[in-house]
Amino acid sequence: MDCIFCKINNKEIPSEFLVDTKTVFAIKDIKPSAPVHYLIIPKEHVESIAHLEGNHSQIISELIFTARDLAVNAGLKGYKLVFNVGREGGQVIDHLHLHLLGGWNRKEDIDHMPHPRLDK
Ligand code: AMP
Ligand code: ZN
Repeated sequence: MDCIFCKINNKEIPSEFLVDTKTVFAIKDIKPSAPVHYLIIPKEHVESIAHLEGNHSQIISELIFTARDLAVNAGLKGYKLVFNVGREGGQVIDHLHLHLLGGWNRKEDIDHMPHPRLDK
């Protein structure tokens, strides 16, 4: 299958694994948009949150707990956990992944975190 994250999981594309369990793995984002930017990825190829089925609850739970543990290990006091869903939600790689973003220290960065505007 022509999927970057499946290829990384199968070692067809080299990458440093921060976590490697039976069901999930974690890597550093190749193009970080925060001082700490990791991706936590299920080994099973599931396209996105929109494609989850009932039997996937264990996977989602492990993604979140793994992200929390990575955040603790990285010494992050606060962080964001983000799932992009579909093109309109900014998803580029069609293999489910959880973004862990954090490590901002400067007050101006913390006070002005980017977020979409509410007004039209
Ligand atoms: P998304 O926009 O949610 O699909 O995010 C995909 C993320 O994967 C982006 O932040 C990319 O920078 C990242 N990415 C793409 N290729 C690689 C790679 N080979 N290793 C690590 N991260 C990658
Ligand atoms: Zn895949």
